[in-house]
Amino acid sequence: MPRTAELKARQAAAVPTGVASKSIYVARAENAELWDVEGRRFIDFAAGIAVLNTGHRHPRVMEAVVRQTEAFAHTCFHVAPYESYLRLAERLNALAPGAFAKKTLFLNSGAEAVENAIKIARIATRRTAVIAFAGGFHGRTLLAMGLTGKVMPYKRGFGPFPAEIYHAGFPLPYRGVTSADALADLDRLFHADVDPKSVAAIIVEPVQGEGGFNVAPADFLQALRRLCDEHGIVLIADEVQGGMARTGRMFSIEHSGVVPDLITSAKGLGGGLPLSAVTGRAPLMDAAHPGGLGGTYGGNPISIAAAHAVLDVIEAEGLCARAAALGARMRARLEALAQASPRIGEVRGLGMMVAFELVKDKRTKEPDAALTAAILAQAEQRGLILLSCGVDANVVRLLAPLTIQDAVLEEGLAILGESIRAAESGGAATRAA
Ligand code: PLP
Repeated sequence: MPRTAELKARQAAAVPTGVASKSIYVARAENAELWDVEGRRFIDFAAGIAVLNTGHRHPRVMEAVVRQTEAFAHTCFHVAPYESYLRLAERLNALAPGAFAKKTLFLNSGAEAVENAIKIARIATRRTAVIAFAGGFHGRTLLAMGLTGKVMPYKRGFGPFPAEIYHAGFPLPYRGVTSADALADLDRLFHADVDPKSVAAIIVEPVQGEGGFNVAPADFLQALRRLCDEHGIVLIADEVQGGMARTGRMFSIEHSGVVPDLITSAKGLGGGLPLSAVTGRAPLMDAAHPGGLGGTYGGNPISIAAAHAVLDVIEAEGLCARAAALGARMRARLEALAQASPRIGEVRGLGMMVAFELVKDKRTKEPDAALTAAILAQAEQRGLILLSCGVDANVVRLLAPLTIQDAVLEEGLAILGESIRAAESGGAATRAA
């Protein structure tokens, strides 16, 4: 039996069905390439779902990890704190937008950062309600799942959800939903469902990730800022997917000029090691009593060491500028593909957070999830790893490492073009040697 088939069978027997995965069992990986247990090479346009902005096994990140393991691997910050945690907090406080005093708390996952941001907003405002957006994704833990605005696969059957969560519409210009429409929906919410004076926080992804790489227009984010100021609401930017240089700025909200009160970071921050953070205004961050925030592993020293190296690499290799430049190149290539395709309805994104939406007909814009799945399958057969997203599962997202070599990026884009053409013509998948 081929190794992949054997591992798939073992996975089916030992791991729950809910933990869905591709069937690319990895043996090793380097920057933007990955080799599976069969020795097949793949170009990685998923980057561990936007985690490997600095690529697989960046030498500086790996070296920092090894060096840290030679000192200590875990103490629990609450028991025996370490300087590297403080220094990383200082670095994020300085990097986050806003010329005011900030503080940072470290956790393990994106969902945990989101949960803690809500806890902080609630205790600081002494209010309970939270507003999130349709199509938003904030994680799989109970509160984060409640905030998520996408039923399948994240919410179906997993309720009841925590109380006092409200969802408003998110601007989707391609589907005719303007910033004004989305703001009118928020106004409806404030009149019909929840008093704005009871709202602790509005949480928003400046670029929706799982929801389909929908970029929040600057005027929308600016209006949210004004509403939050007017009603004393904490504005939380969920930068778990869009942060860490991915969009061409350290934080994606910087494109709008809006300064949020709290920022959640994760994914790219740890360079492959689990680490997340909440960074925000010092008085908000200090609202919780001692012991109210934290956890056993939050800010694990090995992850913290990796994150220092990630920030060093982003700076030393100019990854914000590189994300902007390569992102523009990817956009141009995708626009050309869209011109030639009757099924690519829109190309969108920011920096190297680029996606294209597939429709059955450019006029009706009916979502085409089947074609999306076919493109992913064609690409995988040809040695390119892609992910889909979107509430209708009809968006292909490109999340290559920001460190990807030019030649590998070109090769990946060429495979992408072939895969789109093959899927559109219903052709059989072929795999290059
Ligand atoms: N927030 C956003 C915007 C995300 O994209 C994700 C994960 O994709 C999360 C939160 C949850 O992060 P995690 O899977 O690390 O819990």
